[in-house]
Amino acid sequence: MVALPFVTPAFYDRLMSQNPDNRADQALLRPVSALKGVGPKMVEKLQRLNISTIQDVLFHLPLRYQDRTRVCPIGALQDRMETVIEGVVEYTEVVFKRRRMMLCRVSDGSGSLLLRFFHFGEQQRKSLSPGTHLRCFGEARRGFDLMEMVHPEYRVQAPGADIEAEAHLTPVYSTTEGVHQLTLRKLVNEALPYVSQVQEWLPEALPGSITTIRLAEAVDFLHRPPPETDTGLLLEGLHPAQQRLAFEELLAHQLSLLQLRTVARLNPAPEFLPPAALSRQFLAELPFSLTGAQQRVSAEIEADLCHPHPMMRLVQGDVGSGKTVIAALACLQAVESGFQAAVMAPTEILAEQHLQNFRAWFASLGITVAWLSGKQKVAQRREMRALLASGEAGVAIGTHALFQEDVHFHRLGLVVVDEQHRFGVHQRLALRQKGSEQAGDPHQMIMTATPIPRTLAQTAYADLDLSVIDELPPGRQPIKTVAMNNTRRADVVERVAKACRAGQQCYWVCTLVEESEALQCEAAEVTQISLQDALSDLKVGLVHGRLKPDEKQAVMQDFKSGAINLLVATTVIEVGVDVPNATLMVIENSERLGLSQLHQLRGRVGRGRGQSSCVLLYQQPLSQTGRKRIEAMRQTNDGFLIAQIDLELRGPGELLGTRQTGLAQLKVADLSRDEALIPLATRAAGIVIEQYPDAVAPLLQRWVGENTQYREV
Ligand code: ADP
Ligand code: MG
Repeated sequence: MVALPFVTPAFYDRLMSQNPDNRADQALLRPVSALKGVGPKMVEKLQRLNISTIQDVLFHLPLRYQDRTRVCPIGALQDRMETVIEGVVEYTEVVFKRRRMMLCRVSDGSGSLLLRFFHFGEQQRKSLSPGTHLRCFGEARRGFDLMEMVHPEYRVQAPGADIEAEAHLTPVYSTTEGVHQLTLRKLVNEALPYVSQVQEWLPEALPGSITTIRLAEAVDFLHRPPPETDTGLLLEGLHPAQQRLAFEELLAHQLSLLQLRTVARLNPAPEFLPPAALSRQFLAELPFSLTGAQQRVSAEIEADLCHPHPMMRLVQGDVGSGKTVIAALACLQAVESGFQAAVMAPTEILAEQHLQNFRAWFASLGITVAWLSGKQKVAQRREMRALLASGEAGVAIGTHALFQEDVHFHRLGLVVVDEQHRFGVHQRLALRQKGSEQAGDPHQMIMTATPIPRTLAQTAYADLDLSVIDELPPGRQPIKTVAMNNTRRADVVERVAKACRAGQQCYWVCTLVEESEALQCEAAEVTQISLQDALSDLKVGLVHGRLKPDEKQAVMQDFKSGAINLLVATTVIEVGVDVPNATLMVIENSERLGLSQLHQLRGRVGRGRGQSSCVLLYQQPLSQTGRKRIEAMRQTNDGFLIAQIDLELRGPGELLGTRQTGLAQLKVADLSRDEALIPLATRAAGIVIEQYPDAVAPLLQRWVGENTQYREV
C-alpha cells in the first residue's frame, strides 16, 4: 500500500540506544509529583490516566468543551443542549414520585425550566426560594411539559447583578476515580507554565503537518481556548490547533506500528523456494484459471516467502473474490520447500470447509492434510498431533485448536489466518511461537473479507503489508438486493419455493438482536419447522452453532450436494461457506445487523454464474440507521463502498473491533473525522523514520506511551 522506508538493523540499534537524558525537553519528563499539590496518592491515581510526567499532563487534552460563554434564553433551549441559562425561581417544592426529589421552576420571560434534584439538603431548598436569581449550567432534556435540567451546576446571583459569562470555552477532561474534573483543571493549570518547553519534533517541511502552528501553542490553546476562538470549529474538533495535534498523533501511531513491523521482520524466517512442480500441477488441475488480481497477489506472496524474514501480509478480498486458492498456493510453496503450513479459521464450519477443499485439491498431489478442532474426539486429535509432530502432514487445518500448547509442528513455515477480524493482534503475534528453533518465525498470511477502508487499513494494520484482490472471478453477476416488510413474508416464502423448484438453492438466515446463542438457535429451529411444513415437497435443512460438529458437517455436505434445497441458518454461515448453486438468500430482521455483517452474509450467494438475489426482511418501524443500512445494501455490491458507509454509520472502533488495535486510545484524532489526515500521516511517518530518526522515540513517548515498547512484542 505505502512505500515503506527500508529499515536497517543499524537504524533499529540507533532507536534502541536513544538516551532521553540528552533531550531538550527534559523538564517536561520530570515526574508529575514535581507539580504543586501532587502527593504520592495522587501520583498513583494519575497512573490510571497514563499520566506520570509533566508532559503527560500537558498531553492529557480535553475530550470536549462546554460552552459557558453565552446565556441561552430558556425559550430557545433544545433537547440535549448543554448551556448556561439565567432566570428567577418561581417555586421550589419537595415531592415524592417513586423517590424523594426537589423540583425548582425557573423562568426568564422567554420560557420556564424545571430543575430536578435527587440529592439536596434543607439549606439548599431554602436558598432556592421564589424570586431568587439563578445562573445554571447543565444539559437540557425534554421533560413531560417543560424542558428540564437534572442536577445542574448553579449559582445564586444578587438581584440585578450582571455577572460576565465565562470568557472562554471550558475544557472537559477524561477523569478517573479520585481525580475529578476540577482536580484535572487545576493540575493542567500547574503544568501550563511548562508548555513553552514542549519540543517541536516534526520538521517544518513535512507534508500535511500544519506547521504554521507551533506545537506548544496548539497545546496551550486547547487547554484554554481564548475568547475570540471560533467555537464552532473547536467543538467539532476541526480547529487547526486540534488538527495539528491529530496529525502528530496519527503519525506517532504509524511510527509505533512501523516499529512493531520492523522488529518482527528482523527475526529469521524459513526461506522458501520458488513454486515448482506441485504448484504447476495444482494450477493445471484447477477447473478455472486465476484472475489477474489473484495472479498479482499470489506473486506478491511468492516473493515474500522467498525472503529469510517473516512475511506479514494482509490479503484483503471481497467475499467470493477467491482467497482460498491463494492460500492453497502459499501452502504448496511451503510444502515444496520442505516446511509445513497451518490454516486457521475462526469457526468450525469455515475450517471444515477449508478442510474439504484442501483435501480434495491436495489428494492427487500426495499431501496429507491434518485436521484439528476443539470439538474432535481425543483419539483423533492424538492421531492428528502425531501427523504434525512427525512432519507426515504437510498442511494442518483447523480452528484456534491448532495453536493449543500440546500441538507441535515438525517444521512450521507458514501460518494462514482466515478472517482476520476475529483474531486480535496479540493472537496473531502469538502464532509466531509455533515456529521451530532452527527455522525461525513462520511467515504469516492473514486473509480478510471485511474490506476495511484503505485509510483505516493504513492506520490499523501498518504493521502488515497489504495485498488486495480487487476483481471477482469472471461471469459473476451482481446480486440483486431487495428490502421487504416482514408483513410480506408469505410472498417471500413463495419466491423461495419457486427458486428451489427450479433447481436452485436458498439460504434463510435467522437473526436475533440479543446475542444469546441459545435463543438464536431456537428461532432457527422454529423457522425450519414452519418452512418445512409450508414446503413439503422440498428438503429444508437446519444449521446453527449448537449442532455437534459431525451433524453440522453432514448438513453442510447435504446442502453442498444439493440434497437440501433450503438451508435455514443462524449467522454461523456468515463467513466462508461456499455453495455456488445457492442463488437466493433471505435475511430476517435485517435491520438489526451491521452493514458489514449483512454484506458478509449476502456474499454466500452470487458465487456461481446464475443471477442471485438477496431479500432483506425488516420489521417496522425502521430506525434511521437501519434504513440507511438497508438502502446501502440495495444500492451497491461493492464491499469497499459498504465498508466506507459502515465506517460513517458506526465509527471505526466497531468496524475494527477496538480491542485489536491501539486505536481506541487516540487522544485527539478521530478516524472518521480526520480521515483525510491519515494518508498524510502515513507518508510523513516514512519521512520521519528516514530523515529524522531522532524524533521517533520522543514522538512515541509523547503519544503512545509505554504500551508499545520495542521489546514487548
Ligand atoms: P473468498 O474470497 O470469499 O474466500 P473463495 O475462495 O471461497 O472466496 O472463492 C469463491 C468461489 O469462487 C469458490 O467456489 C472458488 O472455487 C471460486 N473461484 C475462485 N477463484 C476463481 C477463478 N479465478 N475463476 C472462477 N472461480 C473461482
Ligand atoms: Mg473465504
